[in-house]
Amino acid sequence: MEPKMYAYQCTRCGELHHPRHFVCRKCGNRDFAQVPLEGEAALVTHTRVYNLPEGYMKPFLIFGIARFSNGLCVSGQLEADHPESGMKLKATVGVVKEGVGRDYYGFIFKGAD
Ligand SMILES: [Zn+2]
Repeated sequence: MEPKMYAYQCTRCGELHHPRHFVCRKCGNRDFAQVPLEGEAALVTHTRVYNLPEGYMKPFLIFGIARFSNGLCVSGQLEADHPESGMKLKATVGVVKEGVGRDYYGFIFKGAD
């Protein structure tokens, strides 16, 4: 099964959260519905990170914040040769960190053609 990422939508007011919150930041409700978080997003900002901690098999990575069409901003790795704010990205899910006996999944945003 392909890994997926989700937003958590408040069942009372509809506010979207990612990552999961215990309490809705808008109305205080504690019940959420899972909504798939996928498709296109726009790059808000990015930075290159060198000096990575153990578990990353790369010399550096590009870390970005992207906004989905539902307004939610999330962070993830960015795979684009010339990242520019506002560019269109495709949200994919993949291994962002390799651990002992466990890989960690997260967003990998790719430059959309
Ligand atoms: Zn709410």
